[in-house]
This record gives sequence, C-alpha cells and structure tokens, in this order.
Amino acid sequence: MEWKWNTIIEPFKIKTVEPLGITTREERAKALEQAHYNLFNIKAEKVLVDLLTDSGTGAMSAAQWGGVMNGDESYAGARSYYNFEREIKDLTGFEEVIPVHQGRAAEKILFGVVAGKGKCIISNSHFDTTRANVEFTGAEAMDFPVKEALNFDKPAPFKGNADVAAMEKFIKEKGAKNIPLCVMTVTNNSLGGQPVSMENLKAVRALCDKYGIPMFLDCARFAENAYFIKLREKGYAQCPVREIAEQMFELADGAWMSSKKDALVNIGGFLAMNNKEWSAKARQMLILTEGFNTYGGLAGRDLEAIAIGLREVLDENYLQYRIRSTAYLGEGLLRHGVPIINPPGGHGVYVNAKKFLPHIKPQNFPAQSLACALYLEGGIRGVEIGTLMFGRRDAKGVFQAAPMELVRLAIPRRVYTQSHIDYVIEVFGWLAKRAKQIKGLDVVEAPAILPHFTAKLKPAK
Ligand SMILES: *Cc1c(COP(=O)(O)O)cnc(C)c1O
Repeated sequence: MEWKWNTIIEPFKIKTVEPLGITTREERAKALEQAHYNLFNIKAEKVLVDLLTDSGTGAMSAAQWGGVMNGDESYAGARSYYNFEREIKDLTGFEEVIPVHQGRAAEKILFGVVAGKGKCIISNSHFDTTRANVEFTGAEAMDFPVKEALNFDKPAPFKGNADVAAMEKFIKEKGAKNIPLCVMTVTNNSLGGQPVSMENLKAVRALCDKYGIPMFLDCARFAENAYFIKLREKGYAQCPVREIAEQMFELADGAWMSSKKDALVNIGGFLAMNNKEWSAKARQMLILTEGFNTYGGLAGRDLEAIAIGLREVLDENYLQYRIRSTAYLGEGLLRHGVPIINPPGGHGVYVNAKKFLPHIKPQNFPAQSLACALYLEGGIRGVEIGTLMFGRRDAKGVFQAAPMELVRLAIPRRVYTQSHIDYVIEVFGWLAKRAKQIKGLDVVEAPAILPHFTAKLKPAK
C-alpha cells in the first residue's frame, strides 16, 4: 500500500497483552545491587522495557499461533516439517534443508563438517557464536569489515559490507585450499546490525568463484537486509523485497539461520545447502546431537510457526514499520545529543558510551555503567558491548580495554509500540543532562570465558 503520511504506524493490532514490570527507583537500586551490577542477573519481571536482545523475544501472529495448534507432532515425516521445508526451499532455492533448535546448532554442525585445525573461515564479520564454533574446531575466524564500519559517527548506507580487496589479499597469503568457507552475515550483527549491499554480495561471490571457495549466508536478519537494499541501493526501489531476498540467496551456496530473529518465532533455526556430500555428513551429526531429519530439535508446532513467520517477515508493511521504528529511536537519541552508530541498524540502536561518558575510564566500564544507569533511572535493559565483554588482561596481567564501548538497545519484533520508544528517548534525554553524574564500576570477579554473562561488579570509589 502507498503510504503518504509521516507517521508510520504499527501494522498490527494487539490481541494478547502482558503487563510490564513496573518498579520504583528504590526497588531497582536494590535489584542492581543484588545482581552485582550485571543486567543478566536481573529478573525480567523487574524490567520495564527490555531491549537486551531481539533474539527469540518477538511476538508471534494470530496465524502463527493457529499454526502452533495445527502442528503435526509425528516423529518422522510430520506434515509440519514438509511445510517448513517447502517454505525454505521456495525462499532460498537450496535442496537440502536441515532443521535445528537454534542458529548455533547449525554452526556447530556445519563447522564440524567443513572447518578444523589449519583451516580458516573468512567473513564480513563473524557473530560471537559463529566465531566460537569456528574456533572450537581448531580453525581461525577472520573478519574483513569495510573501513566505514568503524567510523561510528559518519553515516554510510552499507556498513555491513566486506572489504573485498582485504579478503583477496588474505586468500592469496593463506592459500585458498585452507579456506573451506566464506560467510556473509546479513545483516552484520557484530558491527551494529548494518546491511550488506547486493553489489557487495556479488563482488564477494565473484571473489569466491575465482578461488573456488563456497559462500554461505548467516541469514538471521535476511529480511531486514533485503529491505535496506530496497531503500538504499540503486535499482532496487521497485523490486519486491521477497525477490531481493531470493536474489541474495541465489548468490550463495548455502545458508543458516537463527529463526529467533527474522522468522518471528521464539526458538528454531535451519541449515540449508546444495552440497550433497556436506549435507549427508551434517545429517549424521544432526541425528547425534539434535534429532531426526524431519524435526531436528524442534517440535512440529515450532516448524509450523517458522514456516508462517518466514512469509510474514517479508510483508513490506511490516518491514517499513520495523526499520522505521529502529530509525525513530536513533533519531530521538541524536536529538538529545546521544552519540550512536549512525545510521541505526535494522534490529537495534548502538549507543557510543565512550563518547557519551568520556569521564569514565575504560577500566571502569563506561558502557556497563551507562547500561546500569539506564536501568536504575528508567527500568530499561540494554546490553553492554565493550570492555566487560571483550576486555582482557594480557600475559603480563596488564589491562587491555576493548576497542569500543557500546550499549546495544535491541528492539524485539512486534512487541513494543511507539510510546514505549518515546519513553526510552525521554529517559535518555534526562540522562544526557546528567551524564557527568554517572559513575563507573569496578569489577569484583569475572570468569575468563564469556565474562559479561556472569561477572560481578560494584560502584567505583
Ligand atoms: C543470533 C545469531 C546467531 C546464533 O543464533 P542462536 O539462535 O542465538 O543460536 C548466529 N548468527 C547471527 C548473525 C545471529 O544474529
């Protein structure tokens, strides 16, 4: 539908509601202390607006809930599996469709088949679970983001792109025979949910063809990426988003997806490809770790909901609202002088805490301090992507700060309305006026692996 108004409305009405966790500042202060200033330890019922992640936190539609009731729970050959398989084949064109319980299960299986010691996987940027699963096999995970991606303040349309020249240089050094796979993550989650252009996908495809390297998509947010191509890339304005998505998949040899994102469900995923040799090996691992070929760690009702979600997510009214509402949050923050990764990505806004709180030293965790202040003042939960997550002590015990200090405000799909977002903007406006009063944190204890999930902190002296 042609939309001539400035106000982009939520293209749905609400049928089921859940109360928000309304608390007092005093209760939140106590909750923070009990959680050791780690927001992963806060009970969700004590959060007002939860922007921790967009993964598995979306609202399903009435049609999806109807599908849940229709789920065929047969162990083998369930109708729901065939609906799931047909939908994914239609969209991606891949012949071999393997269901898994979530994205990282696909990664564990795929890299178990193709990676291993001495091998190297190349990418625009690996997502954390992707990197962890590559490295678990003994292989290396190398990222080749474009330079614009690291200049947070300066807008560029496709900051998710890969640096093709740097990739080629690396392939020549390492030797193509040691690189079993190139992964394009769409959108680029680790670097701000930024999109990859079709032109860049084509260039990477050509590079992979030149050196005989298969290319897969890590396509958790393929629909958001396709919509950005329609909005921003020359020649696609008139192209239906579904066709853009199909073209993206056509360039690849395979894909995997965390359905907890753009399939609009709370759990699930798939691995799909044409390579019969790889898929046969993958299916052996599937049966060992996930389940039989026609359910792979999911219930029939999950498969049904994914099949419906994959269709719904390509509705352009939905995508217009989705991308617009993320941009709306970004614009609101910029209006209050809050520095963000500009432009906002598809699934969230990333606040640059290093610039927002220059008085807090890296060893006092500026991004985590901001995330805690947001919770204390507004009951809003974001997630730190900074020194708590990536900071390290080197061999001599010397503290190494992370290169960036970000607070990600990820937006669950179809969950919050514009007034919730207006509220978040207002809280940020209030904080922006009192930024100097926000204090840093000291670490009390932190494990070596994935410290951000369980670290304990306290207010710095
Ligand atoms: C979420 C995500 C994954 C991992 O998927 P899970 O369902 O959380 O296991 C992999 N890649 C990308 C790009 C993701 O966003």
